Amino acid sequence: MFVPCRPLYTLGMFYRLFRWLNDVYPVTVFFLYIALFFIAFMLAFFIPAGAFLILIGSIFALLPFAFANTLIKHMQRVLARSALSRGVCPACNTLLEERRCKACSIEFEPNGGLVISE
Ligand SMILES: [Zn+2]
Repeated sequence: MFVPCRPLYTLGMFYRLFRWLNDVYPVTVFFLYIALFFIAFMLAFFIPAGAFLILIGSIFALLPFAFANTLIKHMQRVLARSALSRGVCPACNTLLEERRCKACSIEFEPNGGLVISE
């Protein structure tokens, strides 16, 4: 008995995941730094060395956070390019008209990025 096998995850699901991460990640890191500021502010009265460590640690943590942001953007573009080369929308899998999806009403750059219209 043959059971047709469908993939559990499609590229569109990964594309939507990375696009969501790309939307949410910078705001999340921003609020994390605001929370760290308040923690360091409170620690400055009780454990000044702890506040100093948080300050130094958060400055050096900027590099991995920025690298993760670049990686998320790159993954979104790579997944978008693989769908754009087939002529379909990376998010909803419908046919594109000159890199513009009518179902999602979004437009793609040739490198896979999103065109932000005013
Ligand atoms: Zn679409």
